[in-house]
Amino acid sequence: MIPSAFAYETPSTVEEAAALLAEHGDDAKILAGGHSLIPLMKLRLAAPEVLIDIGNIEGLSGISTDNGQVTVGAGTTHSTLEDSDALGTACPLLQQTAAIIGDRQVRNLGTIGGSLAHGDPAADLPAAVLALEAELTAVSANGSRTIAADSFFTGPLMTALGDDELLTTITVPATSGQSGAAYVKNAHPASGYALCGVAAVVTVGADGKCERARIGITGVGSTPMRAMAVEAALTGQELTADNIAAAAGQAAEGLDLNDDLFASAEYRGHLVRVYTRRAVEQAAAQAGG
Ligand SMILES: Cc1cc2nc3c(=O)[nH]c(=O)nc-3n(C[C@H](O)[C@H](O)[C@H](O)COP(=O)(O)OP(=O)(O)OC[C@H]3O[C@@H](n4cnc5c(N)ncnc54)[C@H](O)[C@@H]3O)c2cc1C
Repeated sequence: MIPSAFAYETPSTVEEAAALLAEHGDDAKILAGGHSLIPLMKLRLAAPEVLIDIGNIEGLSGISTDNGQVTVGAGTTHSTLEDSDALGTACPLLQQTAAIIGDRQVRNLGTIGGSLAHGDPAADLPAAVLALEAELTAVSANGSRTIAADSFFTGPLMTALGDDELLTTITVPATSGQSGAAYVKNAHPASGYALCGVAAVVTVGADGKCERARIGITGVGSTPMRAMAVEAALTGQELTADNIAAAAGQAAEGLDLNDDLFASAEYRGHLVRVYTRRAVEQAAAQAGG
């Protein structure tokens, strides 16, 4: 299939990209790795009149750590996350999650910003940024703003980004000594996307009890989401196998689970409980729980 004709812009700064977005509004689309957008254009499900390729913008990709924070440029590819020793030390969860996206070819071109901005309810990285309580920076011609990961995913293929906004950075706290984190997924055998993916971050206090738990879930509903009932059930508890299993048993509570030809809502509910237990067990083992 051949996409509709489009104009092609290659800004070299974030400001130029923001000016182009302001000029063209919803007639324009940002092009990052193209792994989600180009297939949609070929199917004519997306037909932007202007493509704004952000691949030449210096400073939009890379990983930096400062003051207990890890900042990742939106244009950073999944492969760069996967291969970064610095990220492996500062925030292993992002690295682990990126490393199981698609295959190496997908990871060589796909970007963290593209994955988040696309808002696919079965993508992997949204679960990790929810569990890490990431802050996302969006820039437009009118300035910049920070969006909490919790408020970012608003519906299937929908996010809090405006048509005139470019996602520039993702900032997460560096993993501390008392914390552990893990991402586990049940991958759709054809696409590799998550049928159910769960990211868990737990922090264990000096008394050996869970001080804080954050759980991000993807693949089971219309958006990635936090499992707040599980987080509340874990907090204040010792992270024993029994306590983790009891908390994970609440993972599907209140969720509007997808029900389709591939997996029933009942099966998805089962998966989300099992994968939540596994993710928390792995995170707890790292945190010394
Ligand atoms: C065969 C295949 C297998 C895959 N498997 C998986 C998988 O297992 N798990 C998974 O999570 N993903 C998977 N993906 C998706 C992959 O991770 C893509 O990289 C990702 O979804 C989109 O990233 P991109 O950089 O290619 O974005 P693009 O396709 O370039 O853009 C996607 C959307 O985001 C917008 N956008 C991009 N960057 C920005 C920005 N900085 N600011 C604002 N808007 C922006 C674009 O305008 C577009 O609407 C797979 C893709 C393919 C083709």
